[in-house]
Amino acid sequence: MNTPIGYEPLTPHASPLTATAKIFVAGHRGLVGSAVERRLRAEGYTNLVLRTRKELDLLDYAAVAAFFERERPEVVIDAAARVGGIHANNTYPADFIRDNLFVQNNLIDNAWRFGARKLVFLGSSCIYPKHAPQPMKEEHLLTGPLEPTNEWYAIAKIAGIKMCQAYRKQHGFDAISLMPTNLYGPGDNFNLESSHVLPALIRKFHEAKLAGASAVTVWGTGTPRREFLHVDDMAAATVFLAANYSDSEIVNVGVGEDVSIRELAELVRDAVGFTGELEFDTTKPDGTPRKLLDVTRLHGLGWKASIPLAEGIRSTYDWFLQHQADFRT
Ligand code: GDP
Repeated sequence: MNTPIGYEPLTPHASPLTATAKIFVAGHRGLVGSAVERRLRAEGYTNLVLRTRKELDLLDYAAVAAFFERERPEVVIDAAARVGGIHANNTYPADFIRDNLFVQNNLIDNAWRFGARKLVFLGSSCIYPKHAPQPMKEEHLLTGPLEPTNEWYAIAKIAGIKMCQAYRKQHGFDAISLMPTNLYGPGDNFNLESSHVLPALIRKFHEAKLAGASAVTVWGTGTPRREFLHVDDMAAATVFLAANYSDSEIVNVGVGEDVSIRELAELVRDAVGFTGELEFDTTKPDGTPRKLLDVTRLHGLGWKASIPLAEGIRSTYDWFLQHQADFRT
């Protein structure tokens, strides 16, 4: 259970996020959206509006407008995005830029148009320049070229940030933008072609253990460094900031510590109980050398992550073991 520093239940007038507010979580079937839904319910928010992809196509402006006109949610949490790991981003650039631009434009514009009082836009740490100083501060946005393997996704997310800032500036719309670091946890994508590194490694080590394999192949050199935040921590931060933050400046959401891909692989190997070797496939891309967020602003606002990486990997592996039959493979 996350106990944010200084967290206090809100008075009804302090924020649009009241106990009875109508809250639309877009993307509630995804890794982040499902965690946000769990967190909202755990904190006693009951008036949630949820739509599956079949019920509402977020790519369709007219359908989204009709939904907002009918439902008029007061708070919108945009956790809907096309996401993927280094291989998927690199292989489907048109899908990544198009789908993310369409979905976020449709949500932000209609939320404002139909009177939402708050919108939370979720970006990503890949919006920062490839060679940004580490740890990356919010003001490093748009100070240099992006990492080419995910620049399409990053450009869409940067457009989302600017859209929120523009609507706040021109219309006084209370849209905030949060930039999570690499997320993982229950509900993750374990497909080896499209997943991020942490779930990919859980699956690879698990399957190698079952097969009695002598080694597991890790992509790249193992030297890039990444920061990992458990999605339940991300959801807690999202609800906390939806309630307590209202400004155009973006906010990094991370733990403030990173590990090398080799160290991550060793942690996953130990959690899974695989006893073989690690092999590095250097024909696969490393991506950006380091992606560590500066979380000074987040801590100043009164929130800190609480799930240690080794514990988060163990519980995610447990979740994997219980759900592996249901995966999209
Ligand atoms: P990124 O943070 O956007 O680069 O996305 P990823 O999570 O996909 O990859 C992070 C790092 O982990 C990169 O250096 C990858 O090459 C490395 N990596 C090692 N093994 C794997 C794997 O099996 N799958 C993925 N997706 N990445 C891996």
